[in-house]
Amino acid sequence: MFDPDDLDPAPFEEDQEPQEPALPQMLPAPQPVPAPPDAAAHEEFLALLEVLMAAGCLIPCLAAEDRTPWLADGRHASAAAARACQDCPALTECAAYALAAQEPSGVWGGMTLTDRTATRSRSITRKVAAA
Ligand code: SF4
Repeated sequence: MFDPDDLDPAPFEEDQEPQEPALPQMLPAPQPVPAPPDAAAHEEFLALLEVLMAAGCLIPCLAAEDRTPWLADGRHASAAAARACQDCPALTECAAYALAAQEPSGVWGGMTLTDRTATRSRSITRKVAAA
């Protein structure tokens, strides 16, 4: 049963400064980051990048001040990122991961989404022809 003596008097003490009303929420609530298509393979790939970076290797997409070109699917931005990928020590593993996981956007392993789609199509065509 409710007993007013149980209330904590601290919030109502008279010597406290009046509280400013809370500002209205101006920003939308953060949305959860979608999980990568293959979370286990993604974790494994990230672990490889950590090993390479710990060994002093430069990973272009992580070292870049502006990572936008790797996130974009626009032809010019993604072409610049794909060129920068050619110097990456994880190029082969990155491409293999992105193809296997069917990453839906961005540049991975020097390949744009268009490149990956074409590579998958050729691979499927070869498998069908060989069957
Ligand atoms: S190959 Fe992969 S890890 Fe390397 S720079 Fe390109 S996107 Fe980044």
